[in-house]
Amino acid sequence: ATGRYRLISGNWKMNLNHLEAIQLVQKLYFGLRDVDYSFSEISIHPPATSIRPLQLLIESDKMRFSLGAQNCFYEPSGAYTGEISASMLSKLNVKYVIVGHSERRRIFGETDEVVAAKVQSVFSEAMTPILCVGETAQERQDGLTDEVITRQVRGAMAELTGELASKIVVAYEPVWAIGTGAVATSDDAASGAQLIRQEINTLFGQGVSNSVRIQYGGSVTPVSAPELLATEGVDGLLVGGASLDAETFARIIRG
Ligand code: PEP
Repeated sequence: ATGRYRLISGNWKMNLNHLEAIQLVQKLYFGLRDVDYSFSEISIHPPATSIRPLQLLIESDKMRFSLGAQNCFYEPSGAYTGEISASMLSKLNVKYVIVGHSERRRIFGETDEVVAAKVQSVFSEAMTPILCVGETAQERQDGLTDEVITRQVRGAMAELTGELASKIVVAYEPVWAIGTGAVATSDDAASGAQLIRQEINTLFGQGVSNSVRIQYGGSVTPVSAPELLATEGVDGLLVGGASLDAETFARIIRG
């Protein structure tokens, strides 16, 4: 009804070597062969070592999957040992880059400032950031959910032009729901999505906030996926653990 094109993304985190990655994508492709999934875009976010092999596989078999990355650094090149730039990813036909995942914020100390710079760098290479925001269990308990979501959206997006802002994907990922099995209710997902859209509306106006796609992420399974996908304001899913099994991820995509 919204006219926004659904995006279902699989975040593999630090799992699978490149041989296992190829197998999983082949299995997923065959598992979906009789399914009309043209109503959704599917993006796959493997570890960096698997991006090139999957690019070759997806392009040679003309698979209907978009290639994604889990992170990038904000500088285009230079003395940043161990990092990978947005321009390197775009050369591999990566379309979506996850930015500001809670694991990166928590374990690697990424601040809103760093996340904002990464968002800019992804856009500068004509790719699309999937910006992750969401409150921890403690923040939720302390009644800070609105404040945290608003701060993270504003922190990452305030410096964008309206034109770029309208192209971003934001994933509402309550931290307490990630990898815990504690999936948010449809009401939680709806109110998170609404808060995000409200803040984007404040920053850029309604035209932009209506265009932005918002995913829900956090312990999504084939059982919870249909209701979450039917939730007001939710335009797709960011799936971690359940995207590591071809049959399970295919069931989520089938809806
Ligand atoms: C994620 O990593 O973004 C995620 C939502 O993980 P999981 O589905 O495993 O909770």
